[in-house]
Amino acid sequence: MDTRDTREKIVIIGGGFAGLNLVKRLDKKKFNIVLVDRNNYHSFPPLFYQIASSGLDPDSICFPFRREMQKDKAKGTRYHMGEVRTIDFARKEVVTQFETLPYDKLIIAAGCTNNFFGNPDMIKYVYTIKTASEAMRCRNEILERLERACLTHDMELRRKLLSFVVVGGGPTGVEIAGALGEMKRDIVPREYTSLKPEEITITLLEGSNRLLSAMSPQSSEDAKEYLKRLMVDVRLGKIMKSYDQNVVTLDDGSTIYSESVIWTAGITGITFELKGADIRLAPGNRFAVDDYNRVKGLDDVFAVGDIAYLPTEHFPRGLPQLAQVAIQQARLLAEQINKGDFGKTFVYKDKGSMATIGRNLAVADLPKGHISGFFAWLIWMFIHLISILGMRNKVSVLINWIWAYFTYNTSLRLLLHTTRYPLRSRWGEH
Ligand SMILES: Cc1cc2nc3c(=O)[nH]c(=O)nc-3n(C[C@H](O)[C@H](O)[C@H](O)COP(=O)(O)OP(=O)(O)OC[C@H]3O[C@@H](n4cnc5c(N)ncnc54)[C@H](O)[C@@H]3O)c2cc1C
Repeated sequence: MDTRDTREKIVIIGGGFAGLNLVKRLDKKKFNIVLVDRNNYHSFPPLFYQIASSGLDPDSICFPFRREMQKDKAKGTRYHMGEVRTIDFARKEVVTQFETLPYDKLIIAAGCTNNFFGNPDMIKYVYTIKTASEAMRCRNEILERLERACLTHDMELRRKLLSFVVVGGGPTGVEIAGALGEMKRDIVPREYTSLKPEEITITLLEGSNRLLSAMSPQSSEDAKEYLKRLMVDVRLGKIMKSYDQNVVTLDDGSTIYSESVIWTAGITGITFELKGADIRLAPGNRFAVDDYNRVKGLDDVFAVGDIAYLPTEHFPRGLPQLAQVAIQQARLLAEQINKGDFGKTFVYKDKGSMATIGRNLAVADLPKGHISGFFAWLIWMFIHLISILGMRNKVSVLINWIWAYFTYNTSLRLLLHTTRYPLRSRWGEH
C-alpha cells in the first residue's frame, strides 16, 4: 500500500451483488478502495442450479474481478484475493489467510452460507449449491450416478444410485428439483437410453405446508402442480430429522434411502472472528444495521446485502435476502459515503419475486399481480439475462438457452474431476 496516499481507505469484504455495486459507485478519487473476496470472480447465484443440472457452465455466470476492475466505473479499485477470517474493530484491520488489511471504513458484504441448523457435520454428507464450486460438485455427482446406473442390471443398485432427495422447498429447492425432473423426462430417454425415467426418483421435502412460502399461495400451488408434471414427488409438512448411512429419516418416522441429498433448506450469515468490540450478531448470524446500513454500535463499519439485518414494519424478521435488496442497499450506501451525508434512510422497493420450475414453467409475483406458465418463464429469463454481468456472458447464456430449448441438447454433461496429484492442499488451507 502506498503510504503517501492520503485518501481514506475503504475495505469491502465480498464482491457479490452488494460489493460490486459499491465498487462501481464509490468515488475512486476520494477513496482508496480494496475489494477482498475469497474467489477471484463475481458470480450469479440465481443460476447456480443450472450449473448443478448441466444447463450452464460456470464461466457463463461468473466474471473475473480483475477484468471487472478494468471497466470505467470500477477502475481504480484494487482486488485482493483472500478469505477474511478475522475483523479487529479496535485496530481497524481485517485479516485474511494471506495478509492484514487496514481500513478507515469497512463494508461487510460477504453474504451467506448454508445453514445446517445446529448440525454442522451435515456439510460432510449432503450436496449444496450455494457457490459455483458446490454446484459443480453436485453436477458431477448427478452425472456420475447416471453413468454408473447405466453399467448395472441390478435393479436394486440402480434404484439406490438414482434416488435423489432435495431438502427445502424455497426457490432453490424448487428450481433444482424441477431441473432434475427435466433431466428425468427429457434427457434420460435421449442420452441414457438403457435407463427408464421411472427408475429415477426425485423427492422434494418441505417442512411447511406449502412450497415457496415467501411467495403468494397461488405461486405455491402452481409450483407444486408444475413439479408434479415433472414427476417430482413433493412432500409438504415433512422435516428431515437425520441423515445417517444414506437413510433420510423424516419427523413422522418414515425413511427414504438416498445417497445424494441436495440441501437447500436454509442460509446463515458468513461468520468471522470478531475482535475489539462487543458485537452481538442478529438472527441468522447477520449484522444488525440502522436505516443507513451502519452496523449498530460501531463507527465506520457498514453491512449490506444478505449479511445485513434490517427489520422493517413489512419485514419484521429482516429484509428478504434477495439480490434486489443487496443492490439497492449498496447503491444508497455508496451515494451516502461519497457525499459524507447520511440523511436518507434506506427504503426497499420490492420489484417482485419469481421462480422457474422448468421449460415454459415459472411463477412470478409482480407488483401488478401473479402470473405463471410461459409468460412468467419468459419474464424470468429476460430478468436473469439482463442481470448477468458482462456482454459475453449474456450472449453465452442466451445461446445456450435457445439451443437447449429447441434441441434439448447442451454440451455440458462432461464429467470433469480435479486430479488427485500433486498432493498439495490449496493455499491458505489448514
Ligand atoms: C442458489 C441461489 C439462488 C438464488 N436465487 C435468487 C433469485 O432468484 N432472486 C434473488 O433476488 N435472489 C436470489 N438468491 C439470493 C441472492 O443471490 C442474494 O440475495 C445475493 O447474492 C446477496 O448479495 P450479497 O452481495 O449480499 O452476497 P453474495 O452475492 O452472496 O456475495 C458475497 C460475496 O462475498 C464473498 N465472501 C464470502 N465470505 C467471504 C470471506 N470470508 N472473505 C472474503 N470474501 C467472502 C463471496 O465469495 C461472494 O463473492 C439466490 C441465492 C442462491 C444461493
